Amino acid sequence: MSAIIIVGGGHAAGQAAASLRQEGFEGQITVIGDEPHIPYQRPPLSKQYLAGEQGLDRVYLRPDKFYADKGVAVQSGVRVEAIDCAARTVTTSEGQALAYDGLLLATGSLVRRLNLPGGELDGVHYLRTIADADAIQADMASGKTAVVVGGGYIGLEVAAVCVAAGLEVHVLEMEQRVLQRVTTPAMSAFYRGLHEGRGVQIHTSAQVTGFLGDSRVTAVQCGERSFPADLAVVGIGILPNAALAEAAGLDCDDGILVDERCRTSDPNIYAAGDCTNHPNPLLGRRLRLESVPNAMEQARVAAANLCGKKRDYAAVPWFWSDQYELKLQMAGFSADGEEEVLRGDMAANRFAVFYLKDGAVVAADAVNSPKEFMLCRRLIGQKVDATALANPETDLKSLLAG
Ligand SMILES: Cc1cc2nc3c(=O)[nH]c(=O)nc-3n(C[C@H](O)[C@H](O)[C@H](O)COP(=O)(O)OP(=O)(O)OC[C@H]3O[C@@H](n4cnc5c(N)ncnc54)[C@H](O)[C@@H]3O)c2cc1C
Repeated sequence: MSAIIIVGGGHAAGQAAASLRQEGFEGQITVIGDEPHIPYQRPPLSKQYLAGEQGLDRVYLRPDKFYADKGVAVQSGVRVEAIDCAARTVTTSEGQALAYDGLLLATGSLVRRLNLPGGELDGVHYLRTIADADAIQADMASGKTAVVVGGGYIGLEVAAVCVAAGLEVHVLEMEQRVLQRVTTPAMSAFYRGLHEGRGVQIHTSAQVTGFLGDSRVTAVQCGERSFPADLAVVGIGILPNAALAEAAGLDCDDGILVDERCRTSDPNIYAAGDCTNHPNPLLGRRLRLESVPNAMEQARVAAANLCGKKRDYAAVPWFWSDQYELKLQMAGFSADGEEEVLRGDMAANRFAVFYLKDGAVVAADAVNSPKEFMLCRRLIGQKVDATALANPETDLKSLLAG
């Protein structure tokens, strides 16, 4: 293989470029991303970057110099418009047709939008890019009231930053509890209590019906009630960005379908990150994940396979979220568990909850316990004694098999 093109400008694209060189690929690497930035990480956009605590240099995955040193050509602000699988070329928004031997799609995801009256008003935001975070930050600086639509991780992280910045914050969640899609009632209650304790007003079973204002939003309508809003941030999930792959005729179904080696239905095209729908041999089912660890790991696997190695993706999914001074780390899916085991003290904001099925750990959530979390991940799949697990005096290492 002499030329590899990577489409995307996020975690998966940046990691794949680095991994290709680590795997010994000496040919041409071109990264093409449509945002006006070198590859960057999104997590700070709802955390330290939004809070003004981190600059762009810390958001970029690697400095400019890295790509120059490694001989990686980065075309930022350029969109790949089409793929010709037979000719093995991509066409860019600059009108170029670029040839590849191997192509990696790392096109990420797109925010799910609310199609409601007033949705186009100034001050109604979504959060996916640096530009989105900059626009929210500017409105936070001049505003006093913020409404967050959606009580998922991104919504709650934004609420935490806004209330810490002194804004009055309302979170409107359509479901009966915050984080309903991703965690258990006990964890939802814990996070609700945390936010309410900091002054965020949370409204559940609250369906937004529109945004009010002339050219700028002034309030968010929720049935009979309206909530004053100098800005609104909508965080109601994402959709995999598979349109380019679909148009090229690649198999897609809730994401770009790849196998355990990150190969798409075209033998010369791989995909990694949020845009994929992939098999997980450890869980025995296909998944679509929205997480940095997945984007990084798939990028590494795809890079190795593009270099002719035979590497399979087989990782326990994990994710983290920072809200205030609390770091939540989760491994596996709590919904797969039938029994919950609490270890530590929820009131002290330092604990882990293990989820067991047939006596084996299937998932774990850890709050402010990063060291323990490393062991939590290793316990997944293992049968454990629940009483010993619950006892904070038990060294988790002693529960690891063999
Ligand atoms: C605000 C926010 C906070 C988050 N916090 C966390 C967190 O705390 N922990 C965690 O694990 N995950 C978090 N995530 C999720 C995580 O950022 C994503 O899972 C990760 O970014 C996926 O990386 P990716 O490379 O697959 O896609 P992306 O980062 O979405 O990158 C895809 C890039 O490809 C570009 N692109 C798409 N199509 C084309 C095209 N045709 N031509 C050129 N370029 C194209 C896009 O514009 C984009 O720049 C967060 C996400 C957001 C938005």
